[in-house]
This record gives sequence, C-alpha cells and structure tokens, in this order.
Amino acid sequence: MTPGGSIGTTIGAGGILSVDLDAIAANYRTLCQKTGNHCATGAVVKADAYGLGMGAIAPVLHDAGCRQFFVAIAEEGLALRALMDDAEIYVFNGVDDESAAEMAAAGLVPVLNHRGQIETWQGEAKRRGKALPAVIHVDTGMNRLGLNHEEAGALGRDKTMTEGLDIRVVMSHLACADEGTNKKNAEQLEAFGKALEALAPLGALKATLANSSGIFLGADYHFDLVRPGAALYGISPLADGGQASGPPPNPMAQVVRLQGKILQTRVIDTPSGVGYGASHQAERGHRIATVGVGYADGYLRSLSNSASAIIGGIRVPVVGRVSMDLITLDVTAVAEDETRPGALVELMGPDHPVDVLAREAGTIGYEILTALGHRYERRYHRSGA
Ligand SMILES: *Cc1c(COP(=O)(O)O)cnc(C)c1O
Repeated sequence: MTPGGSIGTTIGAGGILSVDLDAIAANYRTLCQKTGNHCATGAVVKADAYGLGMGAIAPVLHDAGCRQFFVAIAEEGLALRALMDDAEIYVFNGVDDESAAEMAAAGLVPVLNHRGQIETWQGEAKRRGKALPAVIHVDTGMNRLGLNHEEAGALGRDKTMTEGLDIRVVMSHLACADEGTNKKNAEQLEAFGKALEALAPLGALKATLANSSGIFLGADYHFDLVRPGAALYGISPLADGGQASGPPPNPMAQVVRLQGKILQTRVIDTPSGVGYGASHQAERGHRIATVGVGYADGYLRSLSNSASAIIGGIRVPVVGRVSMDLITLDVTAVAEDETRPGALVELMGPDHPVDVLAREAGTIGYEILTALGHRYERRYHRSGA
C-alpha cells in the first residue's frame, strides 16, 4: 500500500470505503469563506489525509486553490512533493539529522520546535550555502512542542540564533479550540500575541494559530494562515462545543461512507450468546447478520454492543463483540431479502456520521478516520456537492 493513497479494488473485501472528493472541495471552500480574503487557508494532510488517502485528496485541494499543505513527518512531505511542485509543504514534527538533506532538496519547510531543530536546519543551510525556509513554533500553553516564551524572546533579541534561515511563519497550536467557551483559548491568543511581538525583530513574519476548530473561534484567531484538517474530512469542528445541550449542528459536509458486506445471516433457534465471550444473548427467532469488517479494519473493538448501523433505512444494533474480521448485527427488524449475503450495511456515512460512530466508540472522529484499515475496497467519487 503506497502512502500516496490506494485507489483500486481488494479481492474479497468485506467493506467499501467511499470518499466524496467534491465534499472535501466544498468543505475547503466553506473554510475559505469563513476566513475571508485576508487569510490563506491551508490543508493538513498528515497521516495519509486522516486515513482517507493523500494521493487522491491533495490534488483535489490543490485544484480548489490550496497552496499551503501541512504534514507531520518528512516522509509524508516527500510523497506530497511528488504530487505537486508548486505548493508550500510544512512538516509539523520538524527536522532531524536523518531527514535534513532530503527535506531541503525537496523544498520542504520544517516547523522548528526547539533549539536543536533550529541548529540542525542551520547546519543544512550552511552545507548548501543558502538560506533555508522555516517556521518557528512557539508554545502558548499546549506543552507539547515549541519554544517557550523565554526562548522566543532570546531568538528575537539575537539574530545570530537564526542566521542562515529564512523564517517565514510563526506558529502555535490551540489546546481547547473545540470548546468555544473555554477561557484557555483567549489565554493562548494573548500569549501568541506576545510571542509575535518578541519575534518581530526577525522581520515581517506571517502568523498561524488556528486548526479547524480555531477557525470557528472568530477572526481574532485567523491571522495570516489557518491549518484545518479534520473539518475538511467532515469531522465537526464544533463537536464538543462546551455545551450541555449536546453538540451544535455540523457545518461541514460528510465525506466518508463505510459500507460493510453481509457474509451470512442466521436465525437463532435456541437462545444463546453471540460472538466471543457470549457478551450478547440473542433471543429465539432473532436474526443475526455477520458482516466482514472488524477491528483489524479500524472498526474499533470499543464499538462492541454499543454501535449501530443502517440497512434499508432501518437502524440496527451491533450485538456481541467486534472481532478481528467480523461484526454481528441484530437485523430482526429488517426484511429478509435485504439481509442476504452480499447486501451492504452502512456503518458510517451521511445517516451515521463519523462523529456519531466516534461517540459510540467513546472516542473522536479523528481516531475513527485514521484507524480505517487497508482491506476495504476504496472508491473515490465526485458527488457534485
Ligand atoms: C493536526 C494539526 C492540525 C489540524 O488540526 P485539525 O483539528 O484536524 O484541524 C493543525 N495544526 C497542528 C499543529 C496539527 O498537529
């Protein structure tokens, strides 16, 4: 399986994963409208475009006008560079001795997270005898990656610390952007403003703070460039919302449809357990359909006895444990001719969005998408959305 996506069929696949490329383009345009003309809208395509296939998706975003792409590691950036030569490709996790030469040769731009990475990139610039482009990451309260406020101040005061580098962008990342009312957002915004001041002596640098959810916090959070990932792929940027009343409606179009194929349907003649551990007791007369999708396909085991699926417009429960290659559904409520071997069941899609499946699994849509396995038949289509 190439990291650049996997168009094609899988013989005997237990499920079909359909990706609506027009919905992705529509989501990109929605985000562009949200940010307006003063701000560029990039696209985060790390982790194979959140599991959906960077090779198929990145060109669609490029056609929609996107010219700033973000990946996590150098390998992803090199694969993306092979698809497009005119885009800016930023690598969140930065640079190390192993990746520096290839990154520079491919024109990738590392996000420099700490002094060591700055020095590594300076070393590469020296070897090449030319300035290399870079992003400086300042931590504003996430406490994962990035320079702290003192380190940023030092960089601003002493230009030799960034000699040989063409610093283009200052970046930070929000910890609680999906909770619109969380006061940490304003605190991080203020800290980011201070970091930009501290780095101002390095020149007119562009600034980027917002991920998908950050875009919906308002124009104060947009700066020069935004970095949405999840929202492009249909995950709600308002998923948690910080509200007791449940999540607000998702402003993004649904992108993914996952259909499982029924392998066998049985009628229970004697009440007994279904699947490993017999964790579900099936009653006499109930019909159990077994579908060829399991946790090895990213249908998480935590969905055991808690997820639902849709057949012929009827919602049915996943009963028993999710096993490696199979799940079992109680399809008693569905007409028999819709539950024969080969019939398709919607496990995720417009009627059962990624965020709902994620809630059933006790996780977030990000994990559902990036866990999607490689045994599906993958179909990329254009709905005209
Ligand atoms: C993954 C990532 C993003 C994209 O976040 P979404 O919530 O998917 O929009 C933006 N910035 C950084 C630093 C990231 O790691």
